Amino acid sequence: MGRYTGAVCRLCRREGQKLYLKGQRCYTPKCSFEKKGYAPGMHGERPRYRYRSRGATDFGVQLREKQKMRRIYGVMERQFKNYYERAARRKGVTAEELVRLLESRLDNVVYRGGLASSRAEARQLVRHRHFMVNGRIVDVPSCLVRPGDVVQVKEASRSKAPIVAAANAAGGRAAAEWLEVDPPQFAITIRVLPDRSDIDIPVQEQLVVEYYSR
Ligand code: SF4
Repeated sequence: MGRYTGAVCRLCRREGQKLYLKGQRCYTPKCSFEKKGYAPGMHGERPRYRYRSRGATDFGVQLREKQKMRRIYGVMERQFKNYYERAARRKGVTAEELVRLLESRLDNVVYRGGLASSRAEARQLVRHRHFMVNGRIVDVPSCLVRPGDVVQVKEASRSKAPIVAAANAAGGRAAAEWLEVDPPQFAITIRVLPDRSDIDIPVQEQLVVEYYSR
């Protein structure tokens, strides 16, 4: 599946809030949203264009929530819709199942476990074959993990600069509670899949469901 390769800070500016897509930089004064807290584009500073009046309609609000969620997890439209359809087929509340599915992605687990400073960085490390799931190398960032799975940096990669730099950059961030992290072994065990209350993303997922059920 493809990925968005354009400028990411403009995505935060479009949504009118920080989405933390760039790792360490997001926590510094260099953050573009801190410097230019208005919508991107040549008219972005004009009040009428700020965070788009489109958001005033029900559809506009639903669309923005869907786009925000997609951008946080770095998923393109087709794949995101597949996640929604898969969530809708599951027993349980569709909105919560959708979040749970996205959280189960391998790149998200690497990020949540503190072995990368952003999901984008985690995705790249996975693509570069630095990670194993249950002892086998997996280079597919969208691979879905299950409770009991162990995600680990392969031994030959543990001293490599990108992994050390990523782990250091992410070092200050606490790992998610639904994961068990073993830093000396560069290993993350999935204890359970998370409940919505365990996930801190600023999205109203019910609106995303409403968007796709139109
Ligand atoms: Fe968003 Fe991070 Fe860029 Fe700030 S630095 S605008 S939070 S991606």
